[in-house]
Amino acid sequence: MSSRLAPSVTLDTKFFWDGVKEHRLRIQRCAGCQALRHPPRPMCPRCNALTWDTIDSSGRGVVMSFVMPRHPPYPWFVYPYIVVLVELDEGVRLVSNLCEIVPDEVKIGMRVEVFFQSFDDCLVLPQFRPEGPR
Ligand SMILES: [Zn+2]
Repeated sequence: MSSRLAPSVTLDTKFFWDGVKEHRLRIQRCAGCQALRHPPRPMCPRCNALTWDTIDSSGRGVVMSFVMPRHPPYPWFVYPYIVVLVELDEGVRLVSNLCEIVPDEVKIGMRVEVFFQSFDDCLVLPQFRPEGPR
C-alpha cells in the first residue's frame, strides 16, 4: 500500500500537480482580468474567460483555519496531524497539511511557508511549516 493517498489529477489540475513535482506552487491566473484562482477550474468566476496562464506563488502565507481530524482513522497519516487552510501572500487560499509544529502552537494568523514532501519515490505533495527566515 502507498504511504500517502495520491490526489486525483484532472485536465484542469494537471498543471498544478506537474508544478508540485518540480517544487513549484503554481497558481492559475485569468488571461482576461488577471484574477488568481485556486483550486483550478476552466472558467474565471469573475469575467467568465476560458483562457488562463499561471504564476509561481512565493509559497508563503498565513494560517486562516485549521483542524486536526481524528475519525475515521486513515493508514496514510500519523496522528495527530494538522489540516490547514492557508491564504497565500498572492491572495488565494489552499488546503494542505501543517508540519514541523506541535498542535498546541498552531495559531490563526501565523506565518507559514510551503515545502515539498516526497512519498514512495513518485508522489510529491505541497506541505506547510512555520515560516523561517527569508
Ligand atoms: Zn477573469
